[in-house]
Amino acid sequence: MENHFYRDTWAEVDLNAIKHNIKQMKMIYQSPKKVYAVVKANGYGHGDVEVAKAALEAGADQLAVALLDEGIRLRKHIPDTPILVLGRIRPRDAQIAAWHNLTVTVFQADWVVEARQYLHSNLNVHIKFDTGMNRLGIRTAAEAYDVLKELKSTSIEITGVYSHLATADEDERTHLEKQLKRFRQYIEEFKPQLPEEIEFHIGNSAGAMRFKDSMYDAVRFGIGMYGLYPSELVKEQTGIPLKPAFSLISQLSHIKKINPGETISYGATYTALEEEWVGTVPIGYGDGWIRKLQGFEVIIDGKKYPIVGRICMDQFMVKLDRYIPIDTKVTIIGENNGEFVSTDDVANHLETINYEIPCMINERVPRVYF
Ligand code: PLP
Repeated sequence: MENHFYRDTWAEVDLNAIKHNIKQMKMIYQSPKKVYAVVKANGYGHGDVEVAKAALEAGADQLAVALLDEGIRLRKHIPDTPILVLGRIRPRDAQIAAWHNLTVTVFQADWVVEARQYLHSNLNVHIKFDTGMNRLGIRTAAEAYDVLKELKSTSIEITGVYSHLATADEDERTHLEKQLKRFRQYIEEFKPQLPEEIEFHIGNSAGAMRFKDSMYDAVRFGIGMYGLYPSELVKEQTGIPLKPAFSLISQLSHIKKINPGETISYGATYTALEEEWVGTVPIGYGDGWIRKLQGFEVIIDGKKYPIVGRICMDQFMVKLDRYIPIDTKVTIIGENNGEFVSTDDVANHLETINYEIPCMINERVPRVYF
């Protein structure tokens, strides 16, 4: 297939890696247990529709997104699979969700009161309990009774109940145990009031990978599906072999030798001490390759070279050890002739988490699928 872009920088998304990672989860959560492929934020920067289709092909059962807009976009390409919207939608948009056959998250009685004024067809909802994340969800039994009371005699159908874990990727389990216990208590108390055929779920990737006996009917598999581990601990403890799906590639757009004393880029922050070969790579902070990545390394012909001088909006410079022809491949994230720069390496350099890295490479960088 021809790629319709004209720049020498792109991200490669390996859909076979996505499939492999889903299969790892489906080995643990076989039917009737279900695996959600979490494709919010444009599939964590990988491309929501392409990832969703690959995940479903590999055996994922359902999809989850954060926003109503994301659900609507996905529904255009994927007509039948259940899609759960994890964030709060506006009550006045409830009918829009119903039209697109999206399942939405509910946790406020007032939301139900307002939403039912707009609803004139069936809407599926999952009720969300806050068991300790303190982000979204019902916090007390009284709140839950209110929500359930308002849901009665509406066209809203409860098809699930869920919660979200805050520390499932960490060694210390006190908070996790507290959350699991609260969820268990809520289920015990409210099960008699809920329809029989509903699903309960609490696990993200870390929970799903580490605590399969506490995950109820479904898991919401996000970061792991992209081949990234929620933490080093999850990688070491579970040994589940995941394959990273995301690579970031560019090509040298220019090369020259500079003289001792010459400087590179804005602010002239780098000064050559000797004659140096310097290459230019056409990606910059306008693509999400932010200025803090100055000093980080990229790979050319299996060798790592440092980014020197400030990263510009569309380009950065690398210090080379020899003449290298224009158009030579530059691997920014991924494998190149046996050398590897991982998403985790970029995250460590930026003192952040791997989740953030593919998300920050914006839509200016075309995604290529294979
Ligand atoms: N469930 C909810 C409610 C989330 O917000 C997220 C992501 O942040 C996930 C599941 C997936 O988490 P992970 O990417 O750690 O698997």
